[in-house]
Amino acid sequence: MSDLVTITRNGSIAIVSIENPPVNALAYEVRAGIFNAMEQLAADASVAGVVLTGSGRTFSAGADIREFGKPSQEPWLPVVIQKVEDMPKPVVAALHGTVLGGGFELSLGCHARIAAPGTKVGLPEVKLGLMPGAGGTQRLPRIIGPEAALKVIVPGEPVGTEAALKMGMIDAVSDDPVAAAVEHASRMASEGKPLVKVRENDAPLVAAKADRSSFEETAAALLKKAKGLKAPAACIDAVRWSMDLPVDEALVKERETFMKLIDDDQSKAQRHIFFAEREAAKVADMPKDVKPREVNKVGVIGAGTMGGGISMNFANVGIPVTIIETSQEALDRGFATIEKNYRISVSRGRMTEDDLKARMSLLTGSTDMNDLADADMIIEAVFEEMDIKKQIFGDLDRIAKPTAVLATNTSYLNVDDIAQMTKRPGSVLGTHFFSPANVMKLLEIVRGAETEPEVLATAIEIGRRIRKVPVVVGVCFGFVGNRMLRARSLETERLLLEGATPQQVDAAITGFGFPMGPFAMGDLAGLDIGWRIRKQMGGSADGGSADIADALCEMGRFGQKTGRGFYIYEQGSRAGTPDPEVADLIEETAAKKGITRRQIGEEEIVERLIYPMISEGAKILDEGIAQRPGDIDAVWVFGYGFPLWRGGPMFYADQVGLAHIRDRLNHYAETTGNKALKPAPLLDRLADEGLGFASLARKEAKAA
Ligand code: NAD
Repeated sequence: MSDLVTITRNGSIAIVSIENPPVNALAYEVRAGIFNAMEQLAADASVAGVVLTGSGRTFSAGADIREFGKPSQEPWLPVVIQKVEDMPKPVVAALHGTVLGGGFELSLGCHARIAAPGTKVGLPEVKLGLMPGAGGTQRLPRIIGPEAALKVIVPGEPVGTEAALKMGMIDAVSDDPVAAAVEHASRMASEGKPLVKVRENDAPLVAAKADRSSFEETAAALLKKAKGLKAPAACIDAVRWSMDLPVDEALVKERETFMKLIDDDQSKAQRHIFFAEREAAKVADMPKDVKPREVNKVGVIGAGTMGGGISMNFANVGIPVTIIETSQEALDRGFATIEKNYRISVSRGRMTEDDLKARMSLLTGSTDMNDLADADMIIEAVFEEMDIKKQIFGDLDRIAKPTAVLATNTSYLNVDDIAQMTKRPGSVLGTHFFSPANVMKLLEIVRGAETEPEVLATAIEIGRRIRKVPVVVGVCFGFVGNRMLRARSLETERLLLEGATPQQVDAAITGFGFPMGPFAMGDLAGLDIGWRIRKQMGGSADGGSADIADALCEMGRFGQKTGRGFYIYEQGSRAGTPDPEVADLIEETAAKKGITRRQIGEEEIVERLIYPMISEGAKILDEGIAQRPGDIDAVWVFGYGFPLWRGGPMFYADQVGLAHIRDRLNHYAETTGNKALKPAPLLDRLADEGLGFASLARKEAKAA
């Protein structure tokens, strides 16, 4: 018997327990242990029934995903599950913790499932670009029906105990699931009724087989949200097989498709992002014994676009916020916007009227900064102007309590200069949220030169609490995300002058997988923001120009809000149409600059927009602004809509090959005469050595 699976007895019931901490991953020894235990207990005449459980935190959270794609040993999970299902004696699963993926599939092989309160069950494989590969797509529809199974499998969200019980994913809830399972197994044994194997239980399929319409409607709605991902479509197909194929054939097909998806670049990219998300908040030099400060009350300064959204994040998790503005009028406007956003959620059924009231009641407005004296964390989100920010931090130094964490939401400004306005620069850092701040997952945490580890740890922890993806970055102009975006923006303008149209550029970028192209995005966000910043700075600091965007703004064309920008927006429409006036403006500007326009293909557009970003990412790594390539990928996937299935810019670069990227950048630097396009030294070096950015991450992992 394997050490990772134990058998104990309670009368005539055998209790088989998985003992593979921390999450009872279904490693080879566990699979073999369960298989052998079943064989032994089937043959033992003194055993009337079996309870399958797990010790520690959870029944089983599934396979160890680090082992995906590596050779594994038999018995494979589908065989183990079938062994459980074919037992001649009742097997009851006693569940607790997060019973996910293979863990939940294992429980579906049992003849009943009893869960502790608070248990979560689900099949989240799709989030890693996969589908359930051990019978989940065939057994779940045979318990809860094919349409309900789609709704569980395709989004991949874990299901809470109450909902799982209602749907039938579990049969009962008990404070002591093992005792309840023992009782249940005894009863089943003494009743002696034939055991129902889930894979043979076709009754829940009958209705959907007779009328597919509702199933297909749900499938189409789910597919629409799949955004270029292959796995959701594969999951839908597999659930369809439960109705169309004999179960044994469907199980084989499910396994084959699962194995194919494991080897697919999309799943590799999604697995990379899964780990990158978890690693991005780990700080290499963080002392082990550092404890975050307690945050029970937050202050937000500014109730504009960002301040309002930031405040909502805290109210959403029950943390009270005091919001400071310059006037009652500005406060009223900010609160009205917050309430309007919550109302949209209520109207879409995402929250109740009571939730709305509860959240609004956590928000207090004030025009007096002194009201922040008892806040544990204060986030400044006023205009992007250094003088105002400096003034505010000077005031905060006097007002805030000594243990308060002082944060700025600046997009570009130097966090160290802001920190110097206080006598406690160790308590200052950047918390850079992304718009809309209540929706976007990314939180860049900008570590200043003097930021204390405890303060950094507090920001990371609060970031997790408000359900963001915290990524720790260093101080530089624009930090990681906006600095790389700038590299892209400089090229978008040049492409226009050289011959591309806004619609060609946008189509190339959405074709690559971004939800929006740069010009449509500019029109949405408002072209005037960048224009004002450029005017303030007296042009662009690095010689990059935005002549077209500036000219549009001079004409009063700020984007969607004025009905015109790079595109025309007919009354109320959010979809822009090309404008001949803009085409003329581009041609005239190019002529003035002596640029002969030419046809530019989609491939060049993509390369000229994405490769300079990658090169900038290499500089960011070289300077230590980002700790690892995966951090940059997390920033772009969670903050800027980089297609998840491409794994972020640095992962994508490795897939393309750094030598190719280097060569193309050199080519464009030469043909356009723009030296700024030359590849970064680190990119050059890695390409010479035949390495990828991933080699840097491996080096770091070895050193740790
Ligand atoms: P905004 O203009 O919408 O809001 C700023 C608010 O701050 C206004 O309501 C203003 O009345 C208030 N304010 C100004 N001075 C104040 C003071 N002394 N005390 C209290 N309130 C004051 O601006 P925004 O878009 O919310 O941007 C705020 C900050 O967030 C900026 O630093 C910006 O760079 C950054 N940021 C913006 C975005 C974005 O997409 N809008 C994204 C990330 C970061």
